[in-house]
Amino acid sequence: MAEFNCYLADEEATVQFGGLLARATMRAEHGVSTESGVSLGGRLFLTGDLGAGKTTLTRGLLRAYGFKGAVKSPTYTLVEPYETPEFNVYHFDLYRLSDPEEVEFLGVFDYFGEENLCLIEWAEKGAGYLPNPDMKLDILVEGRARRIRWQAFTEHGEKIAARLWQLTQTQITGTT
Ligand code: ADP
Ligand code: MG
Repeated sequence: MAEFNCYLADEEATVQFGGLLARATMRAEHGVSTESGVSLGGRLFLTGDLGAGKTTLTRGLLRAYGFKGAVKSPTYTLVEPYETPEFNVYHFDLYRLSDPEEVEFLGVFDYFGEENLCLIEWAEKGAGYLPNPDMKLDILVEGRARRIRWQAFTEHGEKIAARLWQLTQTQITGTT
């Protein structure tokens, strides 16, 4: 399975990358260039150390989807919903789960419907109780910069991964 990666020079580049991830997960009637602003849905696991930039990336994605207002880390609530009449985005942070079984109290099957876009930080804390991801994105710290790697696990994920790669090739300047 192909693995892609992209260098993120600073925090702004990570926010921008989140914007590209938004575009890569939007319905496009005629290919990549005409994103509708409506999410296709998907389950994305975000990995990387504390402070790597998982929430920062998610903030960039939510902004690009048009959600205004504060993007808070759902460290204590476990999940933060962003809902519209047309699509939903759910941002999870499972860091504080003490037992993977607790995931069941979240009512996972409501949130993890295929039509919803789910971004899940610390999915490893819910191991065995979460559905399989369409794609995993892993952020590595390189000083002030980051490197993000991503890999697909389903057909849907492959589509997102490839579109994301295409977008990074044209949109982020100063990458190596
Ligand atoms: P996580 O959710 O992975 O724990 P956060 O996104 O909450 O991480 O925090 C990332 C922190 O790192 C923020 O304080 C941000 O300002 C800082 N930062 C520095 N450089 C970067 C970068 N290139 N990308 C993302 N965050 C960065
Ligand atoms: Mg976080």
